[in-house]
Amino acid sequence: MISFEIPSSIEQTVSMIESVATEMMRPQARYYDDHEHEIPWDYINFMHAALQSAGAEVNLAPTSSQDEHQEAGGEATIGFPSTGYLGMAHYVEMLSWGDAGLYLCTPQGGLGAAAVSAAGTPEQVAKFLERFKGDRAVFSAMAITEPHAGSDTAAIKTTAVRDGSDWVLNGEKIFVTGGHKALVDTPGFVIVWATIDPEAGRKGIRSFVVEAGTPGCTVTKLEKKLGIRCSDTAAIVLQDCRVPLENMLGTVEQGKKTSEGYKGVLRTFEATRPLVGASALGIARAALEFLKAKLAEGGIEIRYGLPLSRMTNLEAEVVELEAMLRSAWLLTLRAVWMVDNKIAINAESSMSKIKAGDAVVKITQKAVELLGPMGYSREHLLEKWFRDAKINDLYEGTGQINRLIVARRILGYSRHELS
Ligand SMILES: Cc1cc2nc3c(=O)[nH]c(=O)nc-3n(C[C@H](O)[C@H](O)[C@H](O)COP(=O)(O)OP(=O)(O)OC[C@H]3O[C@@H](n4cnc5c(N)ncnc54)[C@H](O)[C@@H]3O)c2cc1C
Repeated sequence: MISFEIPSSIEQTVSMIESVATEMMRPQARYYDDHEHEIPWDYINFMHAALQSAGAEVNLAPTSSQDEHQEAGGEATIGFPSTGYLGMAHYVEMLSWGDAGLYLCTPQGGLGAAAVSAAGTPEQVAKFLERFKGDRAVFSAMAITEPHAGSDTAAIKTTAVRDGSDWVLNGEKIFVTGGHKALVDTPGFVIVWATIDPEAGRKGIRSFVVEAGTPGCTVTKLEKKLGIRCSDTAAIVLQDCRVPLENMLGTVEQGKKTSEGYKGVLRTFEATRPLVGASALGIARAALEFLKAKLAEGGIEIRYGLPLSRMTNLEAEVVELEAMLRSAWLLTLRAVWMVDNKIAINAESSMSKIKAGDAVVKITQKAVELLGPMGYSREHLLEKWFRDAKINDLYEGTGQINRLIVARRILGYSRHELS
């Protein structure tokens, strides 16, 4: 039966993270927002050391398929999460309460590792997640989006052509979160989606591990953004970039036309979308707490428990924001609970991300509105949280695309019947 109780191991870690969020992240948040593209080495090195010493207890890189890997007699690789996705949701929420941009710079994490976990063979999981074990911080990223292919991921044009014992990749990727970190600052790898058969649509799509330093893989641009400015968002060009055959994720037969490769990497998002939700709700909680603290300073306490008809309009609005935050958090907890308990995810990941994305945008916007100039001023972080909020409704599937996924699954429609 689903339980919302937090195990004490998670609770203790969350309280340690709260100190980092309060003492390190909040004080640095404005600086890195103002100095976009400057690398937060203090935070990266501190978190690397902390995660290494926490070892198996804390992990921010999803490693779900390691369960099967270990059951099959494989050795546990770095940071196997004894606290599962439930723990990760709580850690991500607290880190994002500290600062969502800095959270996205946390070493050992990144979508690349999640993709290896979701779609890699046990050998690939062991080999590539081993990279996180060393003395220096390592980052991984995932590159799907192209100038002409965003929501419609099946429209990607980057090609992978087999040549002897290599795949040769050619194409352009944009908006890669942590792409510069993964390839340059804290070198690890990028998972690149490419087609091995452009005529075959999604049946031709596979994902490839491109390690930092591979010739032909270059960062060409860093985006200047509205929010999460501390997190780099890179454009990457692949020009005759050779990777070994075994860097194609999964066990899909190389010449076969099948959507297995595509489905494999899509599984990544079933586990990571609730974590985007958790990040959104960390920002939302920060904004709501700030709003309530400032109202309290002005002598306005929210009188919980009163019937709506006896509350002031302001109180009713705050209560509604609180309800929005809590209901989205419950959807997030349900989704991570399902992942941890290996219950097939149907629409629950998308639902949690939709609701959390809506909640954070609404809560930060309302907080700015209700506090007036104090909400708009750069003296406080609220205006930054308002800007940081929107990305949660954008990456890993926009709100509209996740709504489509939910509608298809509830109604039993195929992608062709409802697009
Ligand atoms: C800061 C940032 C970081 C990112 N990080 C990554 C990353 O790490 N890796 C990566 O690969 N990509 C990343 N992205 C890209 C992101 O995933 C895409 O921007 C997103 O998928 C939308 O694609 P698009 O921008 O091409 O918009 P489009 O697909 O062109 O969509 C434009 C609008 O139309 C709507 N729309 C599209 N199709 C439909 C439909 N069928 N029904 C209803 N509405 C629809 C969309 O919801 C959106 O509102 C990032 C983007 C940003 C801004």
